[in-house]
Amino acid sequence: MSGEAEPLIHGNSSEQRNYAHDDAEHEAAQQQSRALRVRTIVWSLLGLLFIVGIVIGLVGPDYYADHGWSGALPKDPDLAARRLLDMAPVIDGHIDLPMVARYGWRNNVSAIPLHDKMPMHVDIPRLREGRVGGFFWSTYVPCAGSSAEGKKFLNATWRVRDTMEQIDVAKGLIMKYPETFQYAVSSADVKDSIFQRKIASLLGVEGAHQLGNSIAVLRQYYDLGVRYVTLTHVCHNAFADSCGYIDMISPLHHGLSPLGFKLVEEMNRIGMLVDLSHTSDMTATQVIMHSKAPVMWSHSSARAVHNVARNVPDEVLRMIGTGEGQKDGIVMVNFSPAFVAPEGEADVERVADHVEHIARVVSKKHVGIGSDFDGIMDTPKGLEDVSKYPNLVAELFRRGWNKYELAGLTGGNFLRIFAAVEDVAHKLQSEGALPVYDVYEEREDMPSRRVGEAL
Ligand SMILES: [Zn+2]
Repeated sequence: MSGEAEPLIHGNSSEQRNYAHDDAEHEAAQQQSRALRVRTIVWSLLGLLFIVGIVIGLVGPDYYADHGWSGALPKDPDLAARRLLDMAPVIDGHIDLPMVARYGWRNNVSAIPLHDKMPMHVDIPRLREGRVGGFFWSTYVPCAGSSAEGKKFLNATWRVRDTMEQIDVAKGLIMKYPETFQYAVSSADVKDSIFQRKIASLLGVEGAHQLGNSIAVLRQYYDLGVRYVTLTHVCHNAFADSCGYIDMISPLHHGLSPLGFKLVEEMNRIGMLVDLSHTSDMTATQVIMHSKAPVMWSHSSARAVHNVARNVPDEVLRMIGTGEGQKDGIVMVNFSPAFVAPEGEADVERVADHVEHIARVVSKKHVGIGSDFDGIMDTPKGLEDVSKYPNLVAELFRRGWNKYELAGLTGGNFLRIFAAVEDVAHKLQSEGALPVYDVYEEREDMPSRRVGEAL
């Protein structure tokens, strides 16, 4: 601080005050302009940091470093989409290629020709044309049905064996084409695959009915490389209620069962993504509140755009985010015409409507792509198979999405969620969280009391 200003503060004669007045005014003006300059610089720096933070936060610093992209996208939407996807390829949350292998080839990996034109929506030439950088291979097997498994899900079924077979066929196909696919079990693996220009190949189990009511099976699926479990398919199971399909079905547990809460806790601890596609609104709500980790919908669209049970309602969407009382998460939009629009109206624009609705209600950082290709009988116009993803990107580019937002949609948002789930697992394990050993209470094949406990 300079001494000249001191009389203004300490001076006690009127002369001193008058004399000091002009100088002080000048000094004050100078100080004011200095302060203004400093403020401008500080705010500019903060603004710049904020923008850089948003950009990095959108898709992660590594992801950018790996791709080193710069410059504006071309004005032509189709060219822009292809250029964007060359740098930020699609990571699809749900593809049913293993189901095609099972029902089309009895899982004979040797006989399945992925370099040729496959009968459904997925093969290697079309994956490459569509700029796919990764996807979850769904190791789905159907619900057994209540007549087979009984009302309390106690009858033995082949669901765990069949799931093993689907894990096996997925891995077999991944290994059969090492120049195309790269097996992935972590967010770092996915980034590495993309860097290598391979297709990151992750495994997902589509329904807790595939767990044989056992949390031990969950852990073993994780060890086999599975990284998400959808809590239900179209049937209720011992852990959670399903939403049904087009129409809502009546609840059994009213959300999660007591064992379902434990399942979510164990998924958090081991780093298994909790997938809420197919679950009832109550199940989704309870999981969002109970889970310590972000959640995902591997293949679900927006109910406000097309009113079917399988789509996510706005009340649930509003629980997702990074604000107070919200949970981070991603809704990866399903292309199935039955979930997209009234019969005969599903096209790429309507799918973009679902993407934009979720982006409006939550934000563009919480939406992704989960086509359900190979698991749907019909496809929207303009999104007929895995070669057509660029059409969706082009449509959103036309609607004003910038390259960072588009890169979030195509894969960056999912990578953020995946890495956050891994972080939660590391944290819980380093804090010494114990494995969950709860057993389904209805089971009769184990003693109901521990050895040594009073009978
Ligand atoms: Zn599904």
